[in-house]
Amino acid sequence: MKVLRLADPEKCVGCGLCMFACSRKNARDPRMGIGHAGIRAVSLSGFERGATVIFCHACAEPPCAQVCPTNALRPRKGGGVTYSEKDCLGCRTCVDACKIGAIFGRDDGKIAVCVHCGYCVDFCPHGVLEVVEA
Ligand code: SF4
Ligand code: SF4
Repeated sequence: MKVLRLADPEKCVGCGLCMFACSRKNARDPRMGIGHAGIRAVSLSGFERGATVIFCHACAEPPCAQVCPTNALRPRKGGGVTYSEKDCLGCRTCVDACKIGAIFGRDDGKIAVCVHCGYCVDFCPHGVLEVVEA
């Protein structure tokens, strides 16, 4: 099973292209911004420290899935989770359970989380991301 990981974090300039790609894929609407993205580009406070991306680290025993009351999040083979939007109550218990802050609340009450599809990899112009076999 494949997982997304940082190939070369030093090269991230925080452009957010991975975010826009992910959000557009998940929302299936080219007009969407970053609301549906399961990956987020963040500043490491200022120009000197640069930027990075936050996304699911593919826990082997995902605490987010353990606390989900409806099994909308389920452990995924190889680490991380699968997400069933229709089963999600929007309680955001999972957001608190993820200690690295890799689950993001959406404006429509649902959540966005990386499911390691690897779609974003080709949109990063600097080779920051890669998909590897878990
Ligand atoms: S979303 Fe967070 S808690 Fe859930 S599997 Fe990924 S890193 Fe672990
Ligand atoms: S917000 Fe959705 S996915 Fe997260 S714990 Fe609640 S029901 Fe589960």
